[in-house]
Formats: sequence, structure tokens, C-alpha cells
Amino acid sequence: MSVSRLALHAQGPTFSRLIMGYWRLMEWQLSPAALLDLMKYHLDLGVTTIDHADIYGGYQCEEAFGHALRLEPSLRDRMEIVSKCGIALTAKPEHALNHYNTGKAHIIASAEDSLRKLATDHLDLLLIHRPDPLMDADEVADAFISLKQAGKVKHLGVSNFSARQFELLQSRLPFPLVTNQLEISPLNQSTTLDGTLDLCQQLRIKPMAWSCLGGGRLFDGQEYAPLRTELEQIRHEVGAQNIEQLVYAWVMMLPSQPLPLIGSGKRERIAAAVAAESIALTRQQWFRIRKAALGYDVP
Ligand code: NAP
Repeated sequence: MSVSRLALHAQGPTFSRLIMGYWRLMEWQLSPAALLDLMKYHLDLGVTTIDHADIYGGYQCEEAFGHALRLEPSLRDRMEIVSKCGIALTAKPEHALNHYNTGKAHIIASAEDSLRKLATDHLDLLLIHRPDPLMDADEVADAFISLKQAGKVKHLGVSNFSARQFELLQSRLPFPLVTNQLEISPLNQSTTLDGTLDLCQQLRIKPMAWSCLGGGRLFDGQEYAPLRTELEQIRHEVGAQNIEQLVYAWVMMLPSQPLPLIGSGKRERIAAAVAAESIALTRQQWFRIRKAALGYDVP
């Protein structure tokens, strides 16, 4: 079984339908050799797109990934690497408080730092991590154009942007933003009706979906017990292996065609996520999941 591929935009890039998220890498406590094995495992499944951010693991994840990649540098040719910038955390002593920085100098320095740490000469995609109240769209555009012209970044995009924020930045750029990486799951359905995913559909760009499983909240607590019950029922109806497969299928059924990020480093969970591609939900099953998560019916 291998994951299919999808172009985020007519002008590229083409990514694996499910993407490996590396936010939790430091929690997995892998040696460089064990991490290399994990990389090969998901690459062999066809999960070739890798999601990072400068800040992940208190600025440590990219470096750990780069250490493993240096053991077998040719693997770089089999993957697409995404990273993000624009958040400044106190994990760096020069940051007195957590804040956002979408200034040109910060974006360029952060991207160059990501290249060094990830042991690569280019990023396939760089995203502004979160909307910044002090974002000057002209300045971000300037940074994006300069990184692209230098060949350091192939494509540019954003994360957690509203439709309006997306349009503002796009209006300053001579090339398309190719994605908006968003929290999309039954546990957080806000972007399904607030215009954010509609804009992706309108512009024919594919969103990336983070925390499809609510960061693990799907599996514990009373709040989501009705959702788990409904998912179990539908799991029997469609013959799915587990309930998370249904959640990935639910996300992928949205017409903007989001690409789900996998948050687990466990092989069996990565394999199950990949198999979700073959699950087809009916429209009514999709709405049963929506209703069980929200706790109320459509108006
Ligand atoms: P997620 O899939 O919603 O959550 C992953 C968590 O769920 C892990 O702790 C995992 O534990 C747990 N889990 C998975 N299956 C489970 C099961 N069957 N039973 C119990 N626990 C289970 O994804 P996420 O990690 O929150 O996010 C995915 C990726 O999205 C990140 O790696 C990052 O790349 C990206 N992201 C982006 C943003 C943004 O602002 N752009 C924000 C957050 C995340 P195990 O590790 O034990 O499997």
C-alpha cells in the first residue's frame, strides 16, 4: 500500500496525501539511527512530505532530524520538507517573552537556520506559522521573494491564517501562496464554515490539516465519549481498522482536499493513517461524525 500524491497548486509542489508531522519528535526519544529507520519506514509507505517548524521541541526538532539525515544524505531526494517561522519563544534567551516576528530579517534568518539544522540546501515549502498582529504584508512579501529568488525556498504559504489574512498577503506576491496549514478535525470544525476552506477551494490550493486527532484528546475524557461511540459504530459499518482512520477520512472528504498531518511516531499508527485513504464515508456518515463531535444537529 502506498499513499497517493496531490499537487497543492497547479504550479506545485506535489506532496504525499498524508504528511509526517515532526512536532513531537523530541518526545519520541530516538537515537539518530532509530530516527533514520523511522524516516525510511514512512518514506517506503509513500509518506514523503515532512512537516517541521523552527520552534518545534524548543528549537531542537529540526536539528535532531538533520543529524539523522546526515547519516544517509541521499534520502533528502526522496522527501519534501516543510518548515515554518514567525513565532519567537523564550526558549531562546534573546526573547524576553513569547511573541510573533514576521519582520523580513527574522523570516530570512529563521529560514537559513532551518536549512542548516535540517542539513539541506532548500526547503520545499516555508510557512508563516501564525497570523501576527504586527504583520506588514509588504515586508513578508519582500522576505518571501528574496528567499525564493535565492533558491533557498521553493514555495511559500501560511498557517492558521483567516481568509482575509491570506488574501492580504497574497495581494502583495507575484506568485501563489500554495497552502494554509490549519487545525481541521471533528474536534475543531471552525474552518469548515468560516470561509477559510472556501477560499482554498476558490483558489484551488490544498490546505494541510494539523491535529486531526485533537492532539490525542479524541481518545480520552468524557467530552468526546459520544464521538467515540459514533465512530465505533461507523467503524463497523465501513470495516475500518480503528476510529482514527475514520477521522482522517472525514478530513480528506472535505472538498478543499486537506492533506492530514500524522502526529504519531508509532509505526502501526502511521500505517493505519495511510490506510485511511481507501475508506469512503457516505455524506450521512460524515454528518453523523460532525453531529457527534459538536453535540448538536444542523440547523
Ligand atoms: P494528532 O494526530 O492530532 O495528535 C497526535 C497525538 O495523538 C500523539 O500524542 C499521539 O500519541 C496521540 N495518538 C494518536 N493515536 C492515538 C491513539 N490511538 N490512542 C491514543 N493516543 C493517540 O496530531 P498533532 O501531533 O497534534 O499534530 C500533527 C502535526 O501537525 C504536528 O506534528 C505538526 O507537524 C503539525 N502541527 C501544526 C500546527 C500549526 O500551528 N501549524 C500546530 C500543531 C501541530 P503517540 O505519540 O503515543 O502515538
